[in-house]
Amino acid sequence: MKLTRRNAFKNLSIAAVISATLPWRPTRGAAAQQLDVKDPAAVALGYVLNVAAVDVKKYPEYVPGSNCENCLQLQGSAGNRYRPCGLFPGKLVAIGGWCKGWTPEM
Ligand code: SF4
Repeated sequence: MKLTRRNAFKNLSIAAVISATLPWRPTRGAAAQQLDVKDPAAVALGYVLNVAAVDVKKYPEYVPGSNCENCLQLQGSAGNRYRPCGLFPGKLVAIGGWCKGWTPEM
């Protein structure tokens, strides 16, 4: 899939809709934990710990070279292997991971 501003906006829109419809657990006061790939939210967005595990047939929106570390949704401090993600509140994602909510940094 060609990386265009339109595709980036489309990915962000899809991710926002999915994120809004999933039953997020409250996280107030809880320390962030690593996102389990079997978590329903992770499964819904096709999250993988290692981008090499992306099923490109199942996720044709995958853009070669994309991963959590170069995603607009990634938060936290550079240098940490696991960091917060805007799509998975209260959870930490692997910087080498990926999900279909990937949105290129602008
Ligand atoms: S940082 Fe981006 S690619 Fe990684 S889990 Fe979050 S939305 Fe998906």
